Amino acid sequence: MKKVAIVVPPITDFYYTPHRGAFLGARYVKNFLEKNDFECRLFDFPNKKQKKTKLPEELGYLKPYIEKNDGLFFKEYKRFGYSFEKCKKEIEGFSPDRIILSLFAFAYSKEFLDFARFLKKEFPKIPLFAGGSGISCFPEYFEKTGLINTVFCGEIEAIGEDVLKALKGEIEGIVKPSRFTEENELDFIIAHTLSTKRKNYYSTLLSRGCPKNCAFCSNFIVQGKKFRTVPITKIERTIKQLTLKNANINFEDDNILLAKDYLLEVLKMIKKVEPDTTFSFENGIDYIFLEPGFIEQLVNLGVKQFNLSIGHIDKGILEKNKRPAHIEKLIETVKLLEKKNIPCIVYFIAGLKDDSFQKTIGTMKFLEKLPCLIGISPFYPVPGIAGFENKKIFEEKSPILTKGSSFYPWNNSLTTKELIEAFKIARKINLSKRKH
Ligand code: SF4
Repeated sequence: MKKVAIVVPPITDFYYTPHRGAFLGARYVKNFLEKNDFECRLFDFPNKKQKKTKLPEELGYLKPYIEKNDGLFFKEYKRFGYSFEKCKKEIEGFSPDRIILSLFAFAYSKEFLDFARFLKKEFPKIPLFAGGSGISCFPEYFEKTGLINTVFCGEIEAIGEDVLKALKGEIEGIVKPSRFTEENELDFIIAHTLSTKRKNYYSTLLSRGCPKNCAFCSNFIVQGKKFRTVPITKIERTIKQLTLKNANINFEDDNILLAKDYLLEVLKMIKKVEPDTTFSFENGIDYIFLEPGFIEQLVNLGVKQFNLSIGHIDKGILEKNKRPAHIEKLIETVKLLEKKNIPCIVYFIAGLKDDSFQKTIGTMKFLEKLPCLIGISPFYPVPGIAGFENKKIFEEKSPILTKGSSFYPWNNSLTTKELIEAFKIARKINLSKRKH
């Protein structure tokens, strides 16, 4: 039996959210290969350790903000994961015949390629493969390095046969899917991400694909536009095999409110098996789908916090970005959650095309008056999204600049200084709201 190491390399950033580090894509690959008689081990290095590291040269422009810190900006850059040497030792302990590297976001491709280069030197005889959302949006970028035998794009269920051939050395280059997965092919995977004294955190995905067209979204690149849900029988089977004590299940990157009845059915089934389970939607859900009666049902079933994503408040910006808006509904939803004593964070993006410092401040002033915390996400592009279809720019600029935390003015709508100022104002508002 061939042994395959599935490796998520260490990353560097100002922050990382361990309870969201499920690496579900890598786990789907592991599942698929195990069903095909491979022995696999997942190395999820970003979850393992964190250590202060040097600020990358490309981010030199952030130094003044880090040095003159008033407590509202990041203090240090960190490596999430072991040193390369220690990673090597861990992988060596498994003695793999093949290594598949997984990249969940293009923004981390510099670290990813440094790690691939290191492995190639340390394990010259072991073929290297690569896949994941970060690869799928620009596979040529990775192929041309000559480090990777075969570069995999899209969902494992759709390219499985070719992946098996590639692992045997029968295909090289780039493997692209000719279709997206069907509903009955979808596996249910739930990953334990973190345990605290009070809670055991899990992350999962109930659906794939989204028919909407928000210009800033990259979901369609891997998952396509057809919405599909995981069959409930598969979820029930897995949940019954687990011991979910004091669990919180996070539905990650899931536009699951497109199937409200399905979601209620899933939550009811889980509560029946493990009544003390709670739920969250860390990456945000669309408030437009939240009717008062539905919120009531979700709260009664154990949803403990609502992270709502709005894109922006400015109507013009939303229209340009093809994101529907219904401000009265947002106000009504946030107030209803307050009445129920349910925490709520409203997320918006600063630095979209046609945004300005004034419009961003306007959005924050509006949110300041509402009973919610403000989640501000500086805009960052993914190769292939609207406005960034021409991928040449990603060859000219360092991928490090595509991290949200790099505050890079990709759309020239807010400067770095303004993006950071807005970020600090949001934190200040949140701190004062938390005090009250
Ligand atoms: S942002 Fe959400 S609603 Fe918009 S296209 Fe992406 S997944 Fe769909």
